[in-house]
Amino acid sequence: MRIAVLRETAPGEARVALVPDVVQRLTKSGNQISVEQEAGLAAGFTDADYEKAGARVLRSRAETLTGAELWARVRRPTAAELHEAPEGLTVVTMLGVEPAEALLPALAARRLALLCLERMPRITRAQTMDVLSSQATVAGYKAVLLGAAELGKLLPMLTTAAGTLAPAKVLVLGAGVAGLQAIATARRLGAVVAGFDVRPAAREQVLSLGATFVGPEVSADAEAAGGYARAQTSDEEARTREALAAAIPQHDLLICTAQVPGKRAPLLVDRRALGTLRPGSVVVDLAAETGGNVEGTRAGERVVIGGVVILGPVQLAATVPLHASQMYARNVLALIQHLSTKEGALKIDPADEITRAILVTGEERAGGSGP
Ligand code: NAD
Repeated sequence: MRIAVLRETAPGEARVALVPDVVQRLTKSGNQISVEQEAGLAAGFTDADYEKAGARVLRSRAETLTGAELWARVRRPTAAELHEAPEGLTVVTMLGVEPAEALLPALAARRLALLCLERMPRITRAQTMDVLSSQATVAGYKAVLLGAAELGKLLPMLTTAAGTLAPAKVLVLGAGVAGLQAIATARRLGAVVAGFDVRPAAREQVLSLGATFVGPEVSADAEAAGGYARAQTSDEEARTREALAAAIPQHDLLICTAQVPGKRAPLLVDRRALGTLRPGSVVVDLAAETGGNVEGTRAGERVVIGGVVILGPVQLAATVPLHASQMYARNVLALIQHLSTKEGALKIDPADEITRAILVTGEERAGGSGP
């Protein structure tokens, strides 16, 4: 299979879709990899690393894409980029929060198949291809570091000649992949950590990381298909906010990660609850791009309300590009292996459960599920 990797064009994007280790594995199994020059530089990989791994490094984007059957990307392509792609190409990428619709005419015009990695089914067989998990792991870790850097307190308890410092208290709302990693990271830094999630299964996971579980009683039917949470009714959301309001003021750092696929993120901290945090407290809202868990969050911005700093970082995994790319590339490798025939050819089989779930073509009608 002929595979192309180009420099990412989204502003601030430092990840690369395939890292040299993965390129080496792909070339060893007979694939041909073309890499645009400096495609991996921002993630810490040089052109020489790619050449050593068996890739051809090419000067221009057009040259790199010529003859390619599969284009491995990290971030959503623009319609213009798709219009320049060779006919019949398969594009493997994330799409982000924007729906796929705007890309359909370009996919149709060039007869392209797009494989949207965020649509990967959460089944055991597809776990190695799950970019939501790999990138959320990085984001959950980095969220704690961002919060710790903003906080006017140290996270661990310290006993020094200058007195004893109490540990900071961290509350993690939403204990999925990012939230659990945030809990583990905050614990490693020595904070006292509490967590909350609506899914009953999350309670055990929070406790097993040495955090306490706070908030309302969770209901057994809070989990929907695929292991995700279902959207709560407005009554349930109000009850959750009420119960969390008691826990929130005792904390110094809130890490918010609650999401419901395809929906606005649940509002867990309203202005009133925010007002109960001490000035100097910090909130890192990882749900900012889908509306935020906190009233007042602005995606990509730092907002201060009543002395409380609210960070709404987007694409946080891109700020740890080496490891984020390494994990992303492993996910892409697993997908390429899944799409390869015994002879090493690319096969897009819409009858296959995994391919069907992630495949977007120009024929997809408006109203199809978001990314
Ligand atoms: P996500 O990013 O969609 O949401 C993050 C968390 O927010 C989830 O734990 C969700 O329960 C929680 N949440 C939603 N609404 C909430 C609310 N109102 N209040 C509090 N919390 C709320 O989810 P995710 O992190 O991608 O993973 C969700 C689940 O999928 C987890 O159970 C995870 O273990 C499972 N999973 C399975 C596989 C697999 O089998 N391949 C892979 C990854 C994750």
